[in-house]
Amino acid sequence: MSNKKYIIGNWKNHPDSLAEAEGILDSISEYLDSRRNFIHSLVVCPPFVFLEEIDKIFQSSSLGKKAQLGAQDIALSDSGAWTGEVSGHMLKRLGVRYVIVGHSERRWKLGETDDVVNKKIKTALANEFAPIVCVGERERYESYKDFLKQQLADTFAGLSDNEKGKCLVAYEPVWAISSNPGAKADTPESALESIAIIKEALGNVPVLYGGSVNSSNVESFISQDQIAGVLVGGASVNKEEFVKILSLV
Ligand code: PEP
Repeated sequence: MSNKKYIIGNWKNHPDSLAEAEGILDSISEYLDSRRNFIHSLVVCPPFVFLEEIDKIFQSSSLGKKAQLGAQDIALSDSGAWTGEVSGHMLKRLGVRYVIVGHSERRWKLGETDDVVNKKIKTALANEFAPIVCVGERERYESYKDFLKQQLADTFAGLSDNEKGKCLVAYEPVWAISSNPGAKADTPESALESIAIIKEALGNVPVLYGGSVNSSNVESFISQDQIAGVLVGGASVNKEEFVKILSLV
């Protein structure tokens, strides 16, 4: 595949140990060392607790030249009395370049509103991260396109074109996310309809697809000109499957 794409692994609350995390990275590293023409932007988003060690691994190995580090969330505030939060300032020192904002698991399971997501995008930009902003409808009901338009308007409210241009947007229909009951990937054709809505609302921002991406379907998404890459959840912590995905892009 010749066009440069984003391949982003969202590890969520996995794996259980640093040793397992290192095992995933070893597999990725071994594969990338064996492949000369890997032109894509690979971003790994582990849980906060592994960021420091993974940054050290990146800095001391060839992986640091081939992959970048992302965080799965960012605190609204850069410091202060916010129990449990991790600020942009802290993430910056750990070599983080990207921050996932507004993932559906934070929106729907943890009650993050469009307004909170909007503020987090601004915080991420103020800290010079590239926000990976997740959007997408919860169910494929009749008026889901109206829902998406409203979600985009609220999530990106008050952002200038320049600020929007610094974001990556991940279209992730919630019903397609592999951990949800009955989930199956969207079709590229249908994802492209939503991506057209996103580009109409935000301009020509890079839009990724996410939701049950695996080695059987990654090529069908990544081969679309309008799809700038994939955000991979479950399959990104399965080292064999993730390496297979990398081998197909
Ligand atoms: C995600 O969590 O962002 C995701 C797309 O998950 P999965 O690939 O497991 O559907």
